[in-house]
Amino acid sequence: MNVPRTEPRLRGAERTAPLSRTRADMFTRMLKLRLLNAVAPAYFFTATAVTFILHFCFFVPTIFPKPESSLRASTALHTVVFLFLMFNALGNYIMTIKYPAESANETAVPVCSPHCSDKVDAHYLLNGRHFCKLCKKVILKRDHHCFFTGNCIGNKNMRYFIMFCIYTSCTCLYSLVLGVAFLTVEYSISFENPLTFLTLLPLSTGFFFTGTISGLQLFVVLMLYVWLGIGLVCAGFCCQQVLLVARGQTWCQMQRGQLVENRSPWRTNLKDVFGTRWILGLILPVQTGEMCADETDAYKQD
Ligand SMILES: [Zn+2]
Repeated sequence: MNVPRTEPRLRGAERTAPLSRTRADMFTRMLKLRLLNAVAPAYFFTATAVTFILHFCFFVPTIFPKPESSLRASTALHTVVFLFLMFNALGNYIMTIKYPAESANETAVPVCSPHCSDKVDAHYLLNGRHFCKLCKKVILKRDHHCFFTGNCIGNKNMRYFIMFCIYTSCTCLYSLVLGVAFLTVEYSISFENPLTFLTLLPLSTGFFFTGTISGLQLFVVLMLYVWLGIGLVCAGFCCQQVLLVARGQTWCQMQRGQLVENRSPWRTNLKDVFGTRWILGLILPVQTGEMCADETDAYKQD
């Protein structure tokens, strides 16, 4: 159904601002979001490639240098664990893109709901739908727009997104441990003192510019902090998403402070997202149940 387009409502001080200035501001913010939408996937693939190269070209050959039978088993174990984590992270990333959030069969920009706060990236519509300006689609059960995957997260791909966060966090924290082992073996840096990690980056940066340490050592130190940051952020974000799913709520609803009435039990909510074969989904990036909820379910959300 094609519905006429409406102008966004202006609020507060914006009422007095010239319309052209407001539009220019919106255009600038939208441009930044589009840029982020292009840069974030590139950053993800670059970080993945760097992690892969560091693991197989530097960490494994340095930590397990001798081809003895005992070390050969350790090398194989670490390689299998790393590949398993990486496979699941990338697999769920692909599945998140392959099964995008369910979109309504509407091509025109619909009328904004009276509750629409005129967000930069999306308009809140009636009946719990959102129009994502980046995806250019009306999304049912929208949770948020993920810049790393470049599409919206909703009912169909929430499970893959959560598993993507879990395995990305595990891969980063596992790489952090191997990176610490590499620095200990290769450069005899002791991490027994907890303050060592806190002072490692500033000291390494100083030593690099005085020519004391190599560029590779500084780069590995830098990557330790990147892995720690991404690992903790993904773990925290994942916990939040699981809690929201268990409550039957979306991020969009939480932002508006909207409570879900007649909530289902948390087991039912989790089963709706993770499917009936959820155990299989924990170890492999595969479809674990019927993910196609009908539109009437989506409309009940708000
Ligand atoms: Zn989107």
